[in-house]
Amino acid sequence: MDKVVNLCKRRGFVFPSSEIYGGFRSTYDYGPLGVLMLRNLKDAWWRTMIQLRDDVVGLDSAILMSPKIWEASGHVSNFTDPLVDCRKCKERWREDQIEGACPNCGSTDLTPARAFNLMFQTNVGPVADEGSVAYLRPETAQGIFVNFLNVLQTSRRKPPFGIAQIGKSFRNEITPGNFVFRTREFEQMEMEYFVPPPDGPKWFEYWCEERMRWYTELGIPADKLRLRQHDADELSHYSAGTADVEFLFPWGWGELEGIAQRTDYDLRQHARHSGQKLEYFDQATGERYVPYTVEPAAGATRAMMSFLLAAYDEDTVAGESRTVLRLHPRLAPYQVAVLPLSKKDTLTPVAREIASQLRVHYLCEYDETQAIGRRYRRQDEIGTPLAVTVDFETLEDRAVTVRERDSTEQVRVPIEGVLETIRGKLGF
Ligand code: ATP
Repeated sequence: MDKVVNLCKRRGFVFPSSEIYGGFRSTYDYGPLGVLMLRNLKDAWWRTMIQLRDDVVGLDSAILMSPKIWEASGHVSNFTDPLVDCRKCKERWREDQIEGACPNCGSTDLTPARAFNLMFQTNVGPVADEGSVAYLRPETAQGIFVNFLNVLQTSRRKPPFGIAQIGKSFRNEITPGNFVFRTREFEQMEMEYFVPPPDGPKWFEYWCEERMRWYTELGIPADKLRLRQHDADELSHYSAGTADVEFLFPWGWGELEGIAQRTDYDLRQHARHSGQKLEYFDQATGERYVPYTVEPAAGATRAMMSFLLAAYDEDTVAGESRTVLRLHPRLAPYQVAVLPLSKKDTLTPVAREIASQLRVHYLCEYDETQAIGRRYRRQDEIGTPLAVTVDFETLEDRAVTVRERDSTEQVRVPIEGVLETIRGKLGF
């Protein structure tokens, strides 16, 4: 864990936020490499959930929405964690995360738990009174439910179909921590899949399998991933069944994604509170019904952390130890590094030309400083799967070396064939 957090800071994946002011309450900023990796991760989700299917469409709803939405969804009254105070050291804890004693001072003199609402409140407009109260969304899902009719009418879909969205969510977590595992501002990737009510359980099974596959295909080893069904007393107020995709973090199993059967709870709640009919009318059968919803809800920032942890490795190459991030090429910040053997101006124009051709297709880093060995180490450490090296022979034979991160094997290919070689090795 420490090694990954360290690497994130040192190489520019994740920085503590507001660092020059001493940091700010478990918030983080994504640096030049982190922003690339996070985008790649979200793109990989979008590709699987939308691009490769014809039954799911996208949405980007507002973060600030009518407060009536959060009353209807149950968040105003129910979205709480049990908060206890330590009477001795005054620290505050989530009761379900401690075992009867204050983790700070060990005292068992704790107040009884009270419900603490996790939504951030703000005021919209120039007058801060009761009528201007709004909330930062604590999940992206409700933006999907309240657009159900808009999407149904404009996208000409019928159940089973889904609406997917990626975006920031905010929760005033009592105890954020474990790096970006639990933060107060984070990013979610959620999809609501609307189905005829009798088909709810079937689609729930389907999405549990699909989502597990997504993580394994992108490189999480099977022994670090599990699907855990919730017990009846764990279920949220809206759920008829929930399973969590869990990852084996250094401190134990933790949730990456929740897959829930939300039944018709949300659409019915919004229909009641808004007075609108949120139904599907099947013209073929003349049937009118409120669809059931199956929701795979994942955290993008939390997933990024688990992909980094799973990819981190140390090995020995030619007697020298190295750190290597064995990231899936779709997630790696860069897919290709172009490295001229030296800064000589006979080599750099050729290398720059290759880089500019590859950039059209892949995220590509051009680096000409330091000894070549050190540059390979850097690329290994940031997870770049392939490096193209331009050397003095290149000027004679018009060929370059393509080096693989994982095996460190090198092949010599003509410049004209570089793109094809890279495509073959990356698989896209
Ligand atoms: P937890 O039990 O860990 O508080 P949750 O069950 O409340 O999480 P959901 O409401 O199911 O979480 O949210 C879906 C996903 O969003 C989670 O699986 C997680 O990946 C992500 N997520 C939720 N809260 C946070 C947070 N505070 N920081 C980072 N990611 C989060």
